[in-house]
Amino acid sequence: MMDLLIPDKTHDESRQGEALMLKAEAAKNNGRKLYIESYGCAMNFSDSEIVASILAERGFETTPDYSVADVIFINTCSIRENAEQRVRNRLKEFTVAKVKNPGLVVGVLGCMAERLKSKFLEEEKLVDVVVGPDAYRDLPNLIDRVDDGQKAVNVLLSREETYADISPVRLNSNGINAFVSIMRGCDNMCSFCVVPFTRGRERSRDPKSIVAECQDLFDKGYREVTLLGQNVDSYKWKSKAEGSESDAISSVSEAETNFANLLEMVALISPDLRVRFSTSHPKDITDEVLYAINKYDNICNYIHLPVQSGNSRILDLMNRTYDREWYINRIDAIRRIIPDCAISTDVITGFCSETDEEHKDTVSMMDYVKYDFAYMFKYSERPGTLAAKRYADDIPEEVKQKRLTEIVAKQQEYSFYRMQARIGRVERVLIEGFSKKSDKDYCGRSDQNAMVIFPVGEGYKPGEYVNVLIERSTTATLIGRVV
Ligand code: SF4
Repeated sequence: MMDLLIPDKTHDESRQGEALMLKAEAAKNNGRKLYIESYGCAMNFSDSEIVASILAERGFETTPDYSVADVIFINTCSIRENAEQRVRNRLKEFTVAKVKNPGLVVGVLGCMAERLKSKFLEEEKLVDVVVGPDAYRDLPNLIDRVDDGQKAVNVLLSREETYADISPVRLNSNGINAFVSIMRGCDNMCSFCVVPFTRGRERSRDPKSIVAECQDLFDKGYREVTLLGQNVDSYKWKSKAEGSESDAISSVSEAETNFANLLEMVALISPDLRVRFSTSHPKDITDEVLYAINKYDNICNYIHLPVQSGNSRILDLMNRTYDREWYINRIDAIRRIIPDCAISTDVITGFCSETDEEHKDTVSMMDYVKYDFAYMFKYSERPGTLAAKRYADDIPEEVKQKRLTEIVAKQQEYSFYRMQARIGRVERVLIEGFSKKSDKDYCGRSDQNAMVIFPVGEGYKPGEYVNVLIERSTTATLIGRVV
């Protein structure tokens, strides 16, 4: 009996000790103000909410105004061109704020941390603290070190960290849509991408903690969650499931949760909770995922499936691990299994050695799929990537621009085509708030992720669903009235 009691007591004591320590830290930081500015993808914005939560437990309050902050963080992204210069300029503005408040702590978080730590911290002395995406739990210690007059760095990547137990503080939230991170890192090695180097190896988060977070959001009034990962289709969680005690040979079996299972688990929370996800990878998206989307009305009929190029040789150089035929096969599967599914994509023009003929394959892919929406970029080399090491960035700028202009015009055509096809239909819309242009109109998204505008009226408000008859459209917006 005693043996059983001792561990419990020790566990209780250590939890009590932890709680006391947290209380003491919270008292020490009481009321210190934290300002976080986020750049880049949804994953970065979601990480900022984790950072806010870790520091809220230690007594920090978030503020939208950096001029009153005691701690300023920039959560960086290294995807876009000139990102480094933009962050540098912003940090210089914060340095001015330091004159007024010498105790101000300025730090850089996220994807650029590893690459810029020596530049920003030691050479240019623009920041006090540099923290990589897997080291946010260490932030309270690092801030303490800065308070003691030292500089602080932690850019270690982890194979386990998923922040599963942290309940994010929702920043800039409308109380209706929220991002929920389901995994971190990426095991793909697309040759143009820095993510595998900045965010480390792929790891999935315990599905129980994901479902609990989504349930909690729903209970608080949220009506849409977007499950986030660099490659959600490779989500995988293995848990040990206890077997019956009489089964002496295998009392423990492994239960595996894949992305299709996870989608179903989240969808079952409530039919009134919409489920979206981002981003899919063409090599990993399975028919099982598509059937799960089709089975549940609350899993939205919308898939972002980055193609990057329509040409198999370029896809091979990009190390995308699929070819044109495979991608088309996945598009056909989506059209077959979810007939009313919107599809968007990412495209890069002018990748290393791309010929005019190969570019035409991208254009013809756009003709084939008729995407609802596309993010389109000219290729630009990122330091440290495989492409930067292996291939010459040899397409002249004006050729890249010409190709980009061509596909942007093509996409405008297809976005308009897709929008026009919705005219006369009734869309179920989750109201998000007033439209940007007028407080006489509400805006919200359709199941297919199209923005819908309609007049404000009695009997419905943000956070509720309405049926809207679509009467007209622009390239980017559907316009109608509630029926
Ligand atoms: S799938 Fe490719 S593009 Fe996406 S994060 Fe991973 S390496 Fe980067």
